[in-house]
Amino acid sequence: MARPLIADIDLDALRHNYRLACSLAPDSRAVAVLKADAYGHGAVACARALEGLAPAFAVACIEEAVTLREAGISTPIVLLEGIFEAAELDRVEALGLWMAVHSDWQVEALLARRPASPIPTWLKVDSGMHRLGFAPERAEAVWQRLAAAPGHACDLHLMTHFATADLAATGYFAGQMTRLAALAERLGAPLCLANSPATLARPEAHGAWNRPGVMLYGSDPLEQSNAASRRLAPVMTLRSAIIAVRELPAGEPVGYGGRWVTPRPSRIGVVACGYGDGYDRHAVDGTPVLVAGKRTAVAGKVSMDMMTVDITDIPEADIGSEVVLWGRAAGGEVLGVDEVARHCDTISYTLLTGVLPRVPRRYH
Ligand code: PLP
Repeated sequence: MARPLIADIDLDALRHNYRLACSLAPDSRAVAVLKADAYGHGAVACARALEGLAPAFAVACIEEAVTLREAGISTPIVLLEGIFEAAELDRVEALGLWMAVHSDWQVEALLARRPASPIPTWLKVDSGMHRLGFAPERAEAVWQRLAAAPGHACDLHLMTHFATADLAATGYFAGQMTRLAALAERLGAPLCLANSPATLARPEAHGAWNRPGVMLYGSDPLEQSNAASRRLAPVMTLRSAIIAVRELPAGEPVGYGGRWVTPRPSRIGVVACGYGDGYDRHAVDGTPVLVAGKRTAVAGKVSMDMMTVDITDIPEADIGSEVVLWGRAAGGEVLGVDEVARHCDTISYTLLTGVLPRVPRRYH
């Protein structure tokens, strides 16, 4: 038998989540964010699944766009961080890419050339994230320069990124919106604002374009989930099996450092999945897993290739039993990646993007 660990990717669920993003913002178009290898799901497969449905894809950098173009993806692709050096503009043009522009040198590089056709440009405004973008009071002048330049005039958008759209408290988000809205009104600019949490919960941020990412993969980014986020379907199931069983008396330490000690006579299932596959070593005892469709928990520190789970209360569990680390079990039971992330003191984004290449992806 081959090592049983696999990442099952449900492309119907991906399309379902994309359609949900569209239905929440019927007057917007949704760029499907496929950066970081589609959050670990495989950018080419996800792009193929969404081609014809999504009017544009977003990636972080040219290399990610090249991967999609080389796979035959012809949908427009926007570079969320723009270019990293002026010479990349040749490839931006050749590959027909769109780009975010967040720095003066990028503006100068863009204006220094006369593209055969305008490069659709999303001018990034720092409305409060304080990461990339022009301060609102500077953005207006930059916009005017780009809008006036021959060969660049059309297809300009204003873009911003929210720092707190996922939080229940709305004050900081509202401040970002206010700064952006005033600028947009003066310029009459089309907007691209909403990430997943804003797509799900902040209709006032829905612009000409939205940029949902993690929600497409079925993760709920909201601090307080809502009716829409509860309709998301998990896309990745990280699935393995029990490869050995230990029967231990009470009081026996299990795994490195003996962190977990059997509180009673216990059955321990050894699972083929570890931090060498991307499962988070910070998972505490009690982190949920599904064994044969039933919830149980991590018991002992995660090793490189294996982890141990308590199967004392699942007598039918044995060598070969299915173990779902997150996602949907064969019987339909779901364990959300968000719940696992909370037990690892992290977020779903790091778990999903952290699944390493040695874990085969299987697409349905
Ligand atoms: N837009 C930008 C500029 C981003 O950096 C990201 C993700 O980090 C997204 C959109 C998508 O965000 P999310 O995955 O929270 O939807």
